[in-house]
Amino acid sequence: MKVLVTGGAGFIGSNLVRLLLREGHDVVVLDSLASGYRSNLEGLPLAGLVVGDVRDASLLDRAIAGTEVVFHLAASVGNARSIDHPVVDATMNVLGTLNVLEAARKHGLRKIVFSSSAGIFGELKMLPIAEDHPVEPDSPYGATKLCAEKLCLAYSKLHGLEAVCLRYFNVFGIRQRFDAYGNVIPIFAQRLIHGQPITVYGDGEQTRDFINVSDVAAANLAAGANRGVSGAFNLGSGTAITINHLVALIQKVSGLSTPVAHGPLRKGDVRHSRADIGAMERALGWKPAAVFETALAEYMEWAKKAFVGPAL
Ligand code: UDP
Repeated sequence: MKVLVTGGAGFIGSNLVRLLLREGHDVVVLDSLASGYRSNLEGLPLAGLVVGDVRDASLLDRAIAGTEVVFHLAASVGNARSIDHPVVDATMNVLGTLNVLEAARKHGLRKIVFSSSAGIFGELKMLPIAEDHPVEPDSPYGATKLCAEKLCLAYSKLHGLEAVCLRYFNVFGIRQRFDAYGNVIPIFAQRLIHGQPITVYGDGEQTRDFINVSDVAAANLAAGANRGVSGAFNLGSGTAITINHLVALIQKVSGLSTPVAHGPLRKGDVRHSRADIGAMERALGWKPAAVFETALAEYMEWAKKAFVGPAL
């Protein structure tokens, strides 16, 4: 099938693009290259690369023409970033998604697969987290992702455009870079590679559900290929590890070790997080395949080459 991947030059997007190409699909990418990298797509036989962002409705209209499914990943990502830049977060994530939906409706696409986030839940009240967990986001990012989900599902009811929203838990993997709003695995990788101490916030006994990007790409493909299913699904590995255990594993698989300090708890951090992935399995026949330790070792091999240059 011919598909559009918005945000296809980003970390998750470029992994999805590779999988789609391997499976024989024609792939057009729309990416502003603001947080994505042209080099993430180097040498790939794309059907097209459109440089621009989803706030530009006419560009989107041209990029989506002739495609059957849109994988909508382009976004302003992260709780902290959204607190610093709430207007960018809202225009990109809400109005940008509306532009994608309008273009999809106009061109008669079959499906949208939207990248949502576990950030929609806010404070976690029960584990594992199923789809019917209360949604009370505590950041603009969580609120805009929730709003965008609801828009996708409203379009599926109104216009017959199938819509699957995938609520990502803690995604990690190859081509995930370190930045100012980075996630814990790239932060630890960057520090280990540059011989700097690691800081664990709090006692380190908090848990997260880390899902490898290969599994996220496979889930997107399963959602896009499926016919008839619309809805919002939680997407994690279904397992959780403590941050202390992560520190031990990342040191073991990388063969690198630096001192570990404990800092104060980060404001707004949830204590435990783990997805209930039963609905994904039942509705889309998807199951995670990656083994955490093996995927972490692969990531560290990649990071040792990619994180060259001075420490940020
Ligand atoms: N964390 C940490 N040290 C760091 C960065 C993060 O101990 O340098 C912890 C953080 O407190 C949280 C977990 O790692 O408990 C995951 O953080 P991340 O920001 O990656 O994801 P989120 O908290 O949004 O799930």
